[in-house]
Amino acid sequence: MSDNTAVEMMEPDTEEVANKENSKECEYYQTVLRPMMSGGHEGELCEWLKQMGLLRRSAQCSNPDCKGRSPMCWRKARIVDKYNWACPDCTRKVSIREGSFFLSIKCEMKAIIRCMLGWCERTSIDVTSSQLDLKQHVVRRVYERCTDVAQAYVLSRPQDWLLGGDGAVVVVDVFPDGYMSERRGTGRDKRVLCIADTGHVPARIWAALLEHAGQQVGAQPGTVDEVLGHVRSHVRPGSTLVVSERSRACPHEMLQGIPDYPSTISVETLMGLDLPGTRRIQENLETIWHSAVEVCEEIQEMPTRSGASLLNEYMWRQLFAVTPSSAMQSLLHHIADQFPLQD
Ligand SMILES: [Zn+2]
Repeated sequence: MSDNTAVEMMEPDTEEVANKENSKECEYYQTVLRPMMSGGHEGELCEWLKQMGLLRRSAQCSNPDCKGRSPMCWRKARIVDKYNWACPDCTRKVSIREGSFFLSIKCEMKAIIRCMLGWCERTSIDVTSSQLDLKQHVVRRVYERCTDVAQAYVLSRPQDWLLGGDGAVVVVDVFPDGYMSERRGTGRDKRVLCIADTGHVPARIWAALLEHAGQQVGAQPGTVDEVLGHVRSHVRPGSTLVVSERSRACPHEMLQGIPDYPSTISVETLMGLDLPGTRRIQENLETIWHSAVEVCEEIQEMPTRSGASLLNEYMWRQLFAVTPSSAMQSLLHHIADQFPLQD
């Protein structure tokens, strides 16, 4: 492939990107969930959650005297959930949330669902907390649990993050060393390796903290070896790599030496192909990295562990949160998969 073709293939399709950003309102929530969210509809909501596999559909009493005799009954109760499981043979009761995603969150079921919508729509904790009149720590708890589900999904499916392929252009850069951030150097000690597959619109971006113990691939953290390990695990052989010469952790000449990627081009070479006075390559890179830069900036203030989680959430959102509706549906399905309930 000629270097010029690489520039053209990196050209983002802005119209398509704009279309995907349209519907802000979560239609799925409005049509499916909202009717069950008003007072007096708790029973309907529970039935729906059972059908979705988010609440158990039956329960057995754990009392050794009752075990195996009769299943527990779904009963109305004067508690926040309005229902519980009650044993017909003894006095034992079990929360309808037993074993579910909702167990450790201390507020009404419908408030949790509404917080999940806030997470899907990327509403800030402050705003969701005041909209729903909920304590901030409750909203934060729901958001963290949603992030955990997204992270577990991403980590369980590395095959979704094998990028590029024959002839595809893949850009590799390290925040904030390379071209992702022009305002370099101040107060950004968390370095993030980002790999963008420009064959997707918008570009699909894998990202991980460097020097982070949980993300090592058998190499010394923070070294060129760590970066090469990640590139090899996430970029298919035959891809055209575009690498910046600025970044000390992912030097162009090192990647050029890998036989799997015979065509490796530096950003600087591509910039040299731009017509004098134009900055097409910089503009393309800015478009490609836009969302990743936002996340990389955001994690600078966070503890390392939360930062790593947010990067995984960012990856999950690329696959499932094209609209708030798709985010909400996917989140509910992934929760059901990750909290299998024994009926
Ligand atoms: Zn019993």
